[in-house]
Amino acid sequence: MTYQVDDNGFYGEFGGAYVPEILYKTVDTLKQCYRSILESEEFQKEYMYLLRDYVGRPSPLYYASRMSEKYGCKLYLKREDLNHTGAHKINNAIGQILLAKKMGKTRIIAETGAGQHGVATATVCALMNMPCRVYMGALDVERQFPNVERMRMLGAEVFPVQSGNKTLKDATNEAIRDWCCHPADTFYIIGSTVGPHPYPDIVARLQSIISAEIKEQLMEKEGRDYPDYLMACVGGGSNAAGTIFNYIDDDRVKIVLGEAGGLGMETLQTAASLQIGTIGILHGSRIKVMQTEDGQIIEPYSISAGLDYPGTGPIHCNLYEQGRAQVLAANDDEALQAAFELTRLEGIIPALESSHALALLPKMKFKKDDVVVLTVSGRGDKDMATYLKHKDEINYDAI
Ligand SMILES: *Cc1c(COP(=O)(O)O)cnc(C)c1O
Repeated sequence: MTYQVDDNGFYGEFGGAYVPEILYKTVDTLKQCYRSILESEEFQKEYMYLLRDYVGRPSPLYYASRMSEKYGCKLYLKREDLNHTGAHKINNAIGQILLAKKMGKTRIIAETGAGQHGVATATVCALMNMPCRVYMGALDVERQFPNVERMRMLGAEVFPVQSGNKTLKDATNEAIRDWCCHPADTFYIIGSTVGPHPYPDIVARLQSIISAEIKEQLMEKEGRDYPDYLMACVGGGSNAAGTIFNYIDDDRVKIVLGEAGGLGMETLQTAASLQIGTIGILHGSRIKVMQTEDGQIIEPYSISAGLDYPGTGPIHCNLYEQGRAQVLAANDDEALQAAFELTRLEGIIPALESSHALALLPKMKFKKDDVVVLTVSGRGDKDMATYLKHKDEINYDAI
């Protein structure tokens, strides 16, 4: 029994590759070659070199002593916020562009919602001198304009998508359309553990550096290489997948995931797709999706743009349905409170997404000796406007 992907690209009943006929060969070629490329010495050498000297890895595993005291456990923070470009997404973007080059691709496409994955992709395209087109819903182009400017400064072409609700799902459709038109020369860099197989496995492997480092760092700090708890936020699932990858089949380690409750799961103003979604096909994969009875996607809502996705990748759907992972929702107000708490107790301003993992701490019952590792997926610079807007709603006495 394993929670890793099976030979057909499934995680239990989730996953697979539901792609248009015209992409079948492209996706199949990727499926045939990704493992051998990712595991090759040549790839590993270049990837590890860039992770160290360009991204700044290993990211520290920081013992948060004031937070530990407050929550009655030994809390370590895995500091993905300290990476170049400010989040974990760069780990994956670097790996995928190296994969694209090894496969002889000459053009990169991506889609982005909040712009974080777009910026990571534009960054590695500048680094590797590859042309890059990023699809982005026209509404998101307006809402996330600083990231649009960053991508353009990096040399990427940002293409505003006018169809549908003009958000992430529409940008994804447009990126898939582009891929269908240029399957031979174009590599589609997907930013999370979503999309058709083998993408979820590719992204999980490229993010697994997070848990590989946790193992070594815990050995050094605690004398054992596993924690009692691993905690992370889930949007599509990539920072969580990287955090748990090397522990997924180790039942000594409990997994706790925070999805975006938005205004509350009962309101439908939410992005808690693991808990309220139903099985459907989205982005080429069989996953849990927020949809109406006749299969129309319900527009998700979260204060955090990076968690505002109507589904969750197949890995986490399976972990949740099998009971391997505990999944809790953190609502907007709880995430905001958690962000200010980490800022005031530890001097670290987290991304709003990461705050959804931190917001689970008050919901947990730890024992004093429990070793808890929580991944801080990104830094909060991009969220300053939101934090300042809500600063008067924070209960400072509770911190
Ligand atoms: C994109 C993003 C997320 C959500 O994506 P996952 O694939 O679920 O990790 C979380 N945190 C930050 C900082 C992000 O930029």
